[in-house]
Amino acid sequence: MDKCSFCGREKKEVNLLIAGMDGHICDRCIEQAYAIVEEEFKKEDNFDMSGIKLLKPKEIKEFLDQYVIGQDQAKKILSVAVYNHYKRLGQKVQDDETEIEKSNIVLVGETGTGKTLLARTIAKMLHVPFTIVDATVLTEAGYVGEDIESLLTRLLQAADYNVEAAEKGIVFIDEIDKIARKGDNPSITRDVSGEGVQQGLLKLLEGSVVNVPPQGGRKHPEQKMIPVNTKNILFICGGAFDGIEKKIAQRLNTKVVGYGAQKNADHLDRNNMLQYISPQDLKSFGLIPEIIGRMPVLTYLEPLDRETLRSILTEPKNSLIKQYIKLFKLDDIELSFDEDALQFIVDKAIEFKLGARGLRSICESIMVDAMFDSPSDGIKDLKINLEYAKLKIDTGNLQRLKAS
Ligand code: ADP
Repeated sequence: MDKCSFCGREKKEVNLLIAGMDGHICDRCIEQAYAIVEEEFKKEDNFDMSGIKLLKPKEIKEFLDQYVIGQDQAKKILSVAVYNHYKRLGQKVQDDETEIEKSNIVLVGETGTGKTLLARTIAKMLHVPFTIVDATVLTEAGYVGEDIESLLTRLLQAADYNVEAAEKGIVFIDEIDKIARKGDNPSITRDVSGEGVQQGLLKLLEGSVVNVPPQGGRKHPEQKMIPVNTKNILFICGGAFDGIEKKIAQRLNTKVVGYGAQKNADHLDRNNMLQYISPQDLKSFGLIPEIIGRMPVLTYLEPLDRETLRSILTEPKNSLIKQYIKLFKLDDIELSFDEDALQFIVDKAIEFKLGARGLRSICESIMVDAMFDSPSDGIKDLKINLEYAKLKIDTGNLQRLKAS
């Protein structure tokens, strides 16, 4: 009589009995064994901090340089902040009174200038769980939208529900400017998307134990909450803060009235006011002082000029053009681009006011026919010149991008 060599059940008592060399195993025992294997692997913790080789700030910046073009100031500030943050985590025992505080980061810059890319690249370097969330979906508890705690649901998911790993992760909160208080009047009664959300967020930023719904949302009221301590989670917030240049200018101009300030005002670079940003400006914009206080590292991203856009096309480690070349290489086709074709792509990105974000859709429009035809054509090399690029853009459906 065949029976399971593990639990002893007979063939008729189980759904499936698999024969091995000198024994059998039933479906139940397979499931149990699988669970044990999973559990054991989890213990080996992919996100173990001790495995992280923490680079020095200069090395962090060099790493960022491989993926992100320009933005030197932001890279420098980020490198130091990340270095300090993880050094703080690595601290053995608190041997004296000095406790290094966490330094969450705010990146201010137009959309498509590389804020998300910077945060993503940092996370790649550190091998820690990383998630991007959009502040616009957040609302105060009890209102339509997502509770603040749901920010951490995503992080937990990114960490495969390994709470310990998630507690050392990075959360990138995009569009933080969208939860600014509307208007400068703090007394408006209820501001669902503004101050209430900021208050909620404050709890996470300062570090507290938060009950996180593992599935997120409110669709699963029966789910068991998972407590997550946010003390060591690094929050990087990004936002375009449209119109903040005016607040910066106002602040700088008021100062001009003071003694000896005139000279400084003359030296202002009016085309790039963001470089003078200070926490006060975030306050004028509508962030509450407590939130600003919890994000002590503030830096800005430069608008992308022609030259930068041109470099973004070919220089980063996984630049768009490198990706196309690789794609074609897999079909044994040698792909190349003429310089004036690349310049044309940049022109179009500027014309459509899409910044670096536009480069991809423009390239796709130019390349789609070639990607469709070439694998069957049996050609060995393909050169994209200005004429070809123009033709594809003029006949493609890219013109619709103009409107957006
Ligand atoms: P943001 O978060 O500032 O709106 P992203 O980081 O999402 O912008 O950038 C959008 C895309 O543009 C990225 O996927 C990246 O390919 C490209 N990009 C933007 N800025 C840069 C940069 N400085 N260097 C390299 N690529 C960039």
